[in-house]
Amino acid sequence: MKVLVAVKRVVDYNVKVRPKADGTGVETANVKMSMNPFDEIAVEEAVRLQEAGKASEVVVVSLGVSACQDTLRTALAMGADRAILVETDAELQPLAVAKLLKAVVDKEQPGLVILGKQAIDDDCNQTGQMLAALLGCGQGTFASKVEPGDGLVTVTREVDGGAETVELKLPAVITSDLRLNEPRYVKLPNIMKAKKKPLEVLKPEAFGVDVTPRLKTLKVAEPPKRAGGVKVASVAELVDKLKNVAQVL
Ligand code: AMP
Repeated sequence: MKVLVAVKRVVDYNVKVRPKADGTGVETANVKMSMNPFDEIAVEEAVRLQEAGKASEVVVVSLGVSACQDTLRTALAMGADRAILVETDAELQPLAVAKLLKAVVDKEQPGLVILGKQAIDDDCNQTGQMLAALLGCGQGTFASKVEPGDGLVTVTREVDGGAETVELKLPAVITSDLRLNEPRYVKLPNIMKAKKKPLEVLKPEAFGVDVTPRLKTLKVAEPPKRAGGVKVASVAELVDKLKNVAQVL
C-alpha cells in the first residue's frame, strides 16, 4: 500500500507571529519556516507503517513556493521515499489545496492519504475533510491511532471527552492529532541521504485546477493586550469584583 502525506511549510512554531504593519496578513519575511508540526506527525506515522511492513512506499507532497523543497527534504530525511512539489507563488486556500491534492491522489493512487489535522498558520482544519469529500472516500480525522487491515483501516479518533474508533474502507483520508506519535529526530546521515532522493516539481496548471481564492482576508490584528492582574483581600471582594467589575457573575 502506497501512503501519500501532505506537508505544509509554515512559520516555525517557536516564532511569535506578528501581523504585517498594513494588517493584510502575517509577517513571513526573515522568519524561520518549518514543517507544520501535525504534518511531521503524519510523516512519522507513514514511515512507521512502512517500517512495520504495512506500507510499500511513502510519498510526500507539498504545495507552495519553491522553498517548500526544504520542507520536503526534511520529510525525506525522516524516511519518506520520494517527494512532489506542486510549485506556485499563488495564495492557496484549503479548497484549492484539497483540489490539487485530489489531482495528485488521482495520479498516484495511494491506499492511504495522511494530512495534519490543521496547519498552525491558518488554523483552518479543513483540507483533510474537503479532500475526503472530493475523493468520495472515508475520513478518520484527529487520529490518535492508525491500524491498517485487509482493505481497510481502523482509526481511533480524539473526540470531546474520549476516543472514538472508526473503520474505513481503503482508500481513505486520515488527519493526525498530537497523540498519534512522537516524530523522530532527524540524523545528519539521513539529511545527506535525503538530498539524493527523487523530488518532482509540477505546476498547478498541469492539473487544470482553479486555485482562485474564495475568501478575502479583511484584516489580521494582534489580540488586545492583557490588563494586569489584581490581588484581592477576601472572597467577598473577589465575588464583588466578578459581579461588578468583570460582570461575569
Ligand atoms: P488546514 O486545513 O489549512 O488547517 O491544513 C490541514 C492540513 O492540510 C495540513 O496539516 C497539511 O497536511 C495539509 N495542507 C494544507 N495546506 C497545504 C499545502 N500548501 N501543502 C501541503 N499540505 C497542505
